[in-house]
Amino acid sequence: MTKPRTRSIRFRLTASYTGVLAMTFALIGVGVWIALEHSIQQTADRELYTRLTEVRRYIDSFSADDLLHLEEEFKEESLLSQSVANIRVSGAQGQWLFRTPSTDRWPSRASDPAKLSMRGSNVTIRVGHELIRVLTAPVKLGVVEIGLSIDGFEEVKRGFLWSLALGSPLLLVLAWLGGYWLSGRALKPVDEISQAASNISVQDLSARLPAANVGDELDRLSRVLNDMLARLESAFHRITEFTADASHELRTPVAVIQTTAELMQARPRTVEEHLKAWGNVTKETERTSHLIADLLTLARADSANLEFEMRPIDLSTIAQAAVDEMRVMAEAKQLELVLDTPKRCPMQGDADALHRVLCILLDNAIKFSLGSAEIRVLLTHPAILKVSDQGAGIAPEDLPLIFERFYRVSKDRSRKTGGAGLGLSIARFIVERHGGKIEVASELGRGSTFTVAFRVSNT
Ligand code: ADP
Repeated sequence: MTKPRTRSIRFRLTASYTGVLAMTFALIGVGVWIALEHSIQQTADRELYTRLTEVRRYIDSFSADDLLHLEEEFKEESLLSQSVANIRVSGAQGQWLFRTPSTDRWPSRASDPAKLSMRGSNVTIRVGHELIRVLTAPVKLGVVEIGLSIDGFEEVKRGFLWSLALGSPLLLVLAWLGGYWLSGRALKPVDEISQAASNISVQDLSARLPAANVGDELDRLSRVLNDMLARLESAFHRITEFTADASHELRTPVAVIQTTAELMQARPRTVEEHLKAWGNVTKETERTSHLIADLLTLARADSANLEFEMRPIDLSTIAQAAVDEMRVMAEAKQLELVLDTPKRCPMQGDADALHRVLCILLDNAIKFSLGSAEIRVLLTHPAILKVSDQGAGIAPEDLPLIFERFYRVSKDRSRKTGGAGLGLSIARFIVERHGGKIEVASELGRGSTFTVAFRVSNT
């Protein structure tokens, strides 16, 4: 497998903004260059037009005869001193009427006066090393060409080019260094976060990522990750606790079965002793198999694998069936089981799961009640179910905890009564999956009332 080519974000950030800066420099350079060129031409052309006006005015002042002596006239004219340095005049037939020596090296240009507009036309020519802007325009005799050296301006252009060529790389190096430093500073928290995150392991989920509390994006990221870690920590904690509790609960019945079997084998036993031992083994096996079923239910609930079959049901019928089923157990303890339900109590739900809720509540009420007390199941419309007993009751400090997994108020008593502390957490899970709520009100020594309220839709 080839390792993907990686470049740090710091490097990529610096490279991209240095690249953007280089592009900006290039654009500015080209822009300034074009503007400079344009402005040089404009300045030269303005000057050339001024000179053209003077030359025209001068030539216009001659008569036809004077024109034959144009050369001498020109030489004498001091007003045209600037223009004469770079000027040549040709007649209508193309013959030279006048030209200064400097124009000898100018390329010959066939210019028909009839084709030239009054403003003439401008070109830039190179003579040797010198750049000359030449204006060609019609005059009274034929065509005049006036030149103006623009070498001085070229100096400015060359200076600009040099400063751009030397300055830009320097600025780009500075920008690279500055950008590298800035992005390093900006990304430092990311390094700290990844360093801290790499130190977090399953053995220590309590560690948290650093947050500067400045409210920026990285701060928000740290907080979101910390919240996630907190959730993971509590989930992980719950799983380890659950596993430890489950193993503990399973160890007890297995130990009882093993001890019973060993005692039976130690020496010859009577039939009665054997029957008693088998009775114990059966009881513990039943207990274990219930426990395993409960554990399975909760494990499925955690992995969202527990499917409920929601269909129209009658809660009255379910309550009636559960009470009938538990009546034998209640009567064995001389407890009176009273059922008070409307004729029908329709709702959407899973009949088996709701039956289980009622059995858990009734089982607890029977387990924690003492002789000749009453257990009442009251169902009111639309779907509020109450199971009340006159039993042991629950202390206020235990009330918020009894729905937790494996929570038992008194471990000794529960061991005798057979519960592992899973019933109410299963009941709460089923009720909540039905969109309902389960609550308890209790007074120590006077009894408890569990209330289950379902939300009933009219559909
Ligand atoms: P268990 O299987 O041990 O009954 P539960 O989750 O059903 O587990 O109940 C948890 C604990 O809540 C019980 O061990 C008991 O201490 C307390 N409890 C539940 N129902 C009652 C009740 N009706 N009267 C008194 N205590 C109760």
